Amino acid sequence: MAHEDCIFCKILNGDIPSAKVYEDEHVYAFLDISQVTKGHTLVIPKQHTKNIYETPPEVAKELFARIPQIANAIKNVYKPVGMNLLNNNEAPADQSVFHLHIHIIPRYGEDDGYSSNWTVHADDYTSGELQKIAEEIHSAIEQ
Ligand code: AMP
Ligand code: ZN
Repeated sequence: MAHEDCIFCKILNGDIPSAKVYEDEHVYAFLDISQVTKGHTLVIPKQHTKNIYETPPEVAKELFARIPQIANAIKNVYKPVGMNLLNNNEAPADQSVFHLHIHIIPRYGEDDGYSSNWTVHADDYTSGELQKIAEEIHSAIEQ
């Protein structure tokens, strides 16, 4: 069901133009209007879901099933040296469009415009603490 005021639903409806990369029954892919690097593509489910939290497994399955094909097409056409997949959920994590989307960002070298910029805290947790965190998450997974 399309959501009013969702720009990606408007793209799906054809109300807003987009540079289409791929389309099937469940999935649509198009170029990000702000190309971080050449070929930067967004892959979205046709079913509106706000972000990963709200996404039913069947929608995720269809969405992710298409990503290797699209990624390989970009790889074959532009010969990037690498590729990042990115998915932002909620505004504090940089989500600006609230219709689930996966960014495919081909990489062309260190100064190609993309930066993930995270700090590694590998030594901050003991193996016992890591086990405890893993168990807490594990026991919260809904089957
Ligand atoms: P995010 O910040 O992860 O929510 O990403 C949203 C992305 O949507 C941004 O990278 C925008 O450049 C992109 N975007 C917003 N409006 C459009 C549009 N009309 N067509 C294509 N991409 C868009
Ligand atoms: Zn939408």
